[in-house]
Amino acid sequence: MPELAYVNGKIGPVEEAVVPIEDRGYNFGDAVYEYVASYGGRLFRLEDHLARLSRSMAGLFFPPVSIDQVRDAINELYRASGIERAGIYLQLSRGVDRRDHPFPKAPVPQLVMTVRPLKEKPAHLRKDGAAVITVTDFRWGRCDLKTVQLLPNVMAKQQALDSGAFDAVFVSDAGIVREATSSNFFIVSGGMLMTHPLTENILAGITRQVLLEIAAEQKIQVEERFFTLEEVFAADEAFLSGTTTEVLPVVTIDGNPVGDGKVGPLSEKLFATLRQAAQE
Ligand code: PLP
Repeated sequence: MPELAYVNGKIGPVEEAVVPIEDRGYNFGDAVYEYVASYGGRLFRLEDHLARLSRSMAGLFFPPVSIDQVRDAINELYRASGIERAGIYLQLSRGVDRRDHPFPKAPVPQLVMTVRPLKEKPAHLRKDGAAVITVTDFRWGRCDLKTVQLLPNVMAKQQALDSGAFDAVFVSDAGIVREATSSNFFIVSGGMLMTHPLTENILAGITRQVLLEIAAEQKIQVEERFFTLEEVFAADEAFLSGTTTEVLPVVTIDGNPVGDGKVGPLSEKLFATLRQAAQE
């Protein structure tokens, strides 16, 4: 199962893959990304990831990039890896140019990717649930665009790990619970699901979308609306959703229990249903 890298059409070992130092992704964070997972040899929801990639590029005024070519490149790299349960990281930068703030006159977007076996979350985390901390959301105002400018997320994740928690949840100045560092956030109250609406302050997670579809199929009521930490503590369950977190129960926040402090039944059911959908 080789771990492979892709740099503008060339596939090779990850250790040998390099990008020029004047790539704008490197100098300015002027790049967008996606992370796609496979289950049983098939890439899950690739088209949704490609659609989001297009939206992110449009949001940054990238020149047109052929999504058909990106799709072909992803499939080529994935086939070459032969990895059944893989994670593909894909990054598209605006291009390579002398370091200067204005966009290059004739930008040529650069595509780099890696493919490796996906690292599953530890079994104890799935069984016992995760502890999270809250941090004030100090990110920029376009968190709906999946750019590589992730320093606030990196800082918040490290703060969580340093305090013995799994992740950090961003809360706005006004007290609205938004999302975690690489996952969306849901609560369950009286059998109903609640999550932050799609605004410029959160990423439109693909897993979030799949869960909303599952909820609709299973006649589980959903409200996409703003909610506070107080409402989270009054809820029965909470969980994170994301490509690698899938559905990960949250049992404590800042050391205080959510619901009875145990993994809840709806979180467990949604995890199982998501896995089933991904493996079909
Ligand atoms: N929110 C943020 C900030 C993320 O970085 C991610 C994924 O990387 C998500 C939510 C979840 O998105 P998805 O379900 O598409 O993985």
